[in-house]
Amino acid sequence: LPGDKETSNTLRQVEDALYSLVQPTPTGSEPTTVAYSRDVAGLLDLDPAECERPEFAMVMSGAAPLPGSQSYAQCYGGHQFGSWAGQLGDGRAITLGEVVNSQGQRWELQLKGAGKTPYSRRADGRAVMRSSIREYVASEAMEALGVPTTRALCCIATGDGVYRDMFYNGNVKIEPGAVVCRVAPSFVRFGTFQLPVSRGGMQVGLVKLVADYVIRHHYPHLMEVPEGSARYAAWLREVVERTGRLAGLWQGLGFVHGVLNTDNMSILGLTIDYGPYGFMDSFDPGFTPNMTDFQGRRYCYSNQPQAVQWNCVQLANALFSANLVGKEEAEAALARYAEELYSTYNGKMAAKLGLQSHDQALTTELLTLMAGSEADWTNTFRALAHIPSADSSSSSSSSAANNNGSSSSLAAADQEQDEPNLPPLASPEAAVAAAVAAGLPQRLIDALSAEQLQQQPQLIEGWAAWLRVWKGRLAEEGLPEGQRMAMQAAASPKFVPRQHLLQYAIEAAEAGDYSELDRLMQVLERPYDEQPEADAKYSSKPPPEMVRPGVCVLSCSS
Ligand code: AMP
Ligand code: MG
Ligand code: MG
Repeated sequence: LPGDKETSNTLRQVEDALYSLVQPTPTGSEPTTVAYSRDVAGLLDLDPAECERPEFAMVMSGAAPLPGSQSYAQCYGGHQFGSWAGQLGDGRAITLGEVVNSQGQRWELQLKGAGKTPYSRRADGRAVMRSSIREYVASEAMEALGVPTTRALCCIATGDGVYRDMFYNGNVKIEPGAVVCRVAPSFVRFGTFQLPVSRGGMQVGLVKLVADYVIRHHYPHLMEVPEGSARYAAWLREVVERTGRLAGLWQGLGFVHGVLNTDNMSILGLTIDYGPYGFMDSFDPGFTPNMTDFQGRRYCYSNQPQAVQWNCVQLANALFSANLVGKEEAEAALARYAEELYSTYNGKMAAKLGLQSHDQALTTELLTLMAGSEADWTNTFRALAHIPSADSSSSSSSSAANNNGSSSSLAAADQEQDEPNLPPLASPEAAVAAAVAAGLPQRLIDALSAEQLQQQPQLIEGWAAWLRVWKGRLAEEGLPEGQRMAMQAAASPKFVPRQHLLQYAIEAAEAGDYSELDRLMQVLERPYDEQPEADAKYSSKPPPEMVRPGVCVLSCSS
């Protein structure tokens, strides 16, 4: 630890080092286990019965030391919302150590919310129950959804209160505190490489040191590439590829991270740092769950892929500035981003439509209809997985919404869209009846906003036309129906951690009842299964009273 002689938690700039030794700060209250993941316990060769013991809550909240561990906090910097922010570091994350399991896998255990570190700046090093539950749920839900992510072993209530100004308006509230134990092969971030570069001089050597470390431990296959810029270039290329793929997966699921600063970008291409994230309910390209990003929308759904790409450029810049890669090598690596992003996203969209090859026009038309209809992202795609390709109802050309002939191509569907808008229908109920009459399947109608269909009845005709064209494409490809539907169901989950479902689990947990969280986790463990036994609320759109700030739009005050 050159230059970092102190091992206390005093705030400071840490130079010539990438971490500081720190101990968790016990709260003095009795901690209790809110939830734990049997799956993650398994990764650590931990008997789930161990997680039920009071000692587990003590260690995993930072109230008692983990025997044999030497805990530390990482030093890193980052660009926040496009501006260089200098040293950030683990302000409330403390690594307990690494576990090598019986399969030789190495897992780092990190407590989030266990007290101050040298990097806590003006904050308290703590986390509130709502944010800890949100991180715990998302970590495990993303894994089940098939998205690379950091994991979560458990969520522990510290028993202490934490002060928070939820909407930065001076209304301070005391909230229950909680700690999440995060688990990943590594928590190194893009910003880990950026900080020493920004400081210049001798510190730039740290970039090579940590790059070598990351390659040796986490990209061991690259040790075969000759040492020097070829190896770093191959590594950068792989980081960029993983990151592009990650962004493609997020887009397919309607997941918005919310705080895509370079300090929140994993060097392993994992989803990391769940704060004000959100899965979209109704499709809105401008959707952002982060209220501090409401004006700029830098990290909204439609801007997310570009924001992630920008972050990759910052990483490449750091490696270039540290003389690890040349300009051409960096540019070639960065070019892989868009390729991975689009091949992942387009592949997912094709599967969501039950097609073997991506159809750009059909997809764009669908997204236009979805945005206009405020269609629920998850439920619309899931509904498509259940629509038979050759039912008689949808080929009927009678419609309450002024059908002017059957269209066999998207061009025709587009023309219908371009015609003058129809006058609004009498009521949302009338719009639903018109949609039924136009042959739209009930499950699809349920995913759409009846109010939008009422206001813009031409949408109903647009959907009917789109379904006809889509079914024509399905017929062309000729996949057996069962196989086609299974492909779609495997690409479009029925269950995602919607904001209002998290809110139900959080409110119950804050009142000391963890059973709702437990039920939610059970459903989210198998997101692609139909689970007919699951309560309808887990797959329904949010009720109107749950679409409000604090549930769908969140602050960073976590
Ligand atoms: P984030 O936007 O959550 O990635 O946080 C940015 C930086 O602020 C990171 O370095 C965090 O460790 C730090 N930070 C966030 N919340 C707290 C907190 N409650 N106490 C100390 N540091 C924090
Ligand atoms: Mg962070
Ligand atoms: Mg955070």
